Amino acid sequence: MMSVVFPPSQGNLSRAGHLLSPTGQCCNPPHFLLVIPDTFVPMPEQRTGGRARCPNPSGTPMTVRTERRKNIMAVFNDGIAETTTPENSDVVTTDVLIVGSGPAGASAALFLSTHGIDNIMITKYRWTANTPRAHITNQRTMEILRDVGVEDEVLAQAVPHHQMGDTIYCESLAGEEIGRRPTWGFRPDRRADYELASPSMPCDLPQTLMEPILVENATKRGTQTQFSTEYISHEQDADGVNVRVRNRLTGHEYTIRARYLIGADGARSRIAEEIDTPFEGAMDIGGSMNIQFKADLSHLVAHRPSILYWVFAPGSNIGGIGAGLVRCVRPWNEWLVVWGYDITGTPPELNDEEAKRIVRNLVGIPDLEMEITGYSLWGNNEQYATHMQKGRVFIAGDAAHRHPPSHGLGSNTSIQDSYNLAWKLAAVLKGHAGEELLETYSVERAPVAKQIVTRANNSSREYGPIFEALGVKDATTEEEFVEKLRLRKEPTAEGAARRKALRAALDNKDYEFNAQGTEIGQFYESSAVVCDGLGRPEVTEDPMLHHQKSTYPGLRLPHAWIGDTLNKQSTHDIATGTGFTVFTGITGRAWAEAAEDLAREWDMEIRAVVIGEGEVHQDLYGDWLRQREVQEDGAILVRPDKHIGWRAHRMVEDPRSALAAVLSTILSNDRVTDGQITEADLVVFQS
Ligand SMILES: Cc1cc2nc3c(=O)[nH]c(=O)nc-3n(C[C@H](O)[C@H](O)[C@H](O)COP(=O)(O)OP(=O)(O)OC[C@H]3O[C@@H](n4cnc5c(N)ncnc54)[C@H](O)[C@@H]3O)c2cc1C
Repeated sequence: MMSVVFPPSQGNLSRAGHLLSPTGQCCNPPHFLLVIPDTFVPMPEQRTGGRARCPNPSGTPMTVRTERRKNIMAVFNDGIAETTTPENSDVVTTDVLIVGSGPAGASAALFLSTHGIDNIMITKYRWTANTPRAHITNQRTMEILRDVGVEDEVLAQAVPHHQMGDTIYCESLAGEEIGRRPTWGFRPDRRADYELASPSMPCDLPQTLMEPILVENATKRGTQTQFSTEYISHEQDADGVNVRVRNRLTGHEYTIRARYLIGADGARSRIAEEIDTPFEGAMDIGGSMNIQFKADLSHLVAHRPSILYWVFAPGSNIGGIGAGLVRCVRPWNEWLVVWGYDITGTPPELNDEEAKRIVRNLVGIPDLEMEITGYSLWGNNEQYATHMQKGRVFIAGDAAHRHPPSHGLGSNTSIQDSYNLAWKLAAVLKGHAGEELLETYSVERAPVAKQIVTRANNSSREYGPIFEALGVKDATTEEEFVEKLRLRKEPTAEGAARRKALRAALDNKDYEFNAQGTEIGQFYESSAVVCDGLGRPEVTEDPMLHHQKSTYPGLRLPHAWIGDTLNKQSTHDIATGTGFTVFTGITGRAWAEAAEDLAREWDMEIRAVVIGEGEVHQDLYGDWLRQREVQEDGAILVRPDKHIGWRAHRMVEDPRSALAAVLSTILSNDRVTDGQITEADLVVFQS
């Protein structure tokens, strides 16, 4: 007889057999099985039609005791188990099927697996993105990636914040400079805003490198990733969704039966079309082309590092995303040019020679040697979904919001959509929440879709005043364009006026490049947020440029460094991404006890955090005191997506009932039958 001793629990053992650390890291140790001949210890059963258990290359070996010591043969078991083939090979079951492995789909898979939810991700291609489209990764996304434990992997490959540098405006890379603006919080006054608001700084990582990190970690944590698998159609019923898919290697069609379906299938989403998602706006309102090339341009740029060089050359006032763009993919020898064309005319024919001509024009070196690595035409869009769900089917990412890359909001918003959706699906699938919670996904994210589509398009349009100041807005010939570019240098009153207007227009680009409010200031109003009866604090600065720090319900949890003599952690690190967190102070301990009590009773993760002197978590700099906006004996309830779910300004008579009622309301569950919060309750919570 052989007994297997499991190591002490390091977290939750999910339904699908994943041992998840508090940060959601998969931490099943590799198993050493000591196999005695004729004695076999089976690995735990695997779910039918599901996925392989996650392999774990690291961790403490599992101890195995045996009473028989003779004839022992050691077999190393690396934890990898075969995927079980379902009895009916035409139907595979899972909890969530994700169509698409782009930023929206791959992050949804990563988040769901981190929550321990069974999921399959399919993509019609044999690998992830092959062009480095998205790259600017903003603070909110970095916080999310930090939460799921992959921030360091991203930073290891990314162009770091300090190298994102100034945004440069020029006649060509080798030509005259028109102006610069420090961006992404790089200017000293803005740097303080960025550093004070978040534990994570922006960075630059091409989509070609970001997607593999997301896919790899999702798959390691349990996602069944199916490449070369095409979505064909779906039908939903009361209990689930039957999705027909085709294996593109074999042509074999089969059904994946999922409880929920996420359409993360990009801007031409079939799933959005099939669920008849309502959209506003238009597609293909401008013409753009991408040209990728390799050339060492360090002599032109290394002394003025930037990820974006905007070029005002003849033709840059036609179509496109504002002006000509030379974007650094990898410093300083991999590049992407974005160039416009008139979408109402005949599309240009691209070939290597034409691509080289355009690149040489923008770089300003007529005989530049380069390797062209790809080119494509694409349309600029201004379209957003006003609703992102139909029953058991959701859309996320570009499927819901289509816009130009200006401001770098696409991949960021896609990842943020999935972060909002994943915890809600997990809560419902684990039985903690009612299905009504899922409706808050669309209620919370559709307004964001509208906001960012509008913002990205305005960011493109805001190149208009620069062209006007330069006098080249309506230039129709190359000669006219070049001639007028000189106007800004004339020693005349008109020249002076142009110089003044030019500086104002360049500074106005802060709405694209220093817009921290747009990037991390998303605010949710839905039934998954319980208002505290007060109004949202007045905004004192431009909400697009500046982030409003507040614990007002619906806003993002303010960042403050908390710690002790040995460690320093952000409030974002302390709040758990796989459950709720209650923050309180020393005199609010009854809130913490209420949270712990409810967590036990409801068998769900509610982390209780008391911040104060002599506690595990100390307010080292007083930053939390300055930002918490409630009394020391009050409480702040944080949702798994690190948005404030509710706050109580001070202690109440029965904190457990108050917390239970609020959680029940947020989760749309019926655990507290009289769980709806009344106006009268809110007054009590404030007083
Ligand atoms: C030049 C350029 C620069 C950009 N720069 C930035 C930036 O700096 N920052 C930023 O945040 N965003 C940027 N973007 C936007 C960004 O690339 C997109 O917003 C992002 O890729 C959207 O992610 P997604 O997952 O929603 O869709 P996609 O990345 O388009 O992924 C769609 C997925 O669906 C799969 N799929 C589609 N149809 C099917 C089917 N029938 N069956 C199976 N699979 C299917 C595809 O294989 C793919 O995996 C840029 C875009 C461009 C063009």
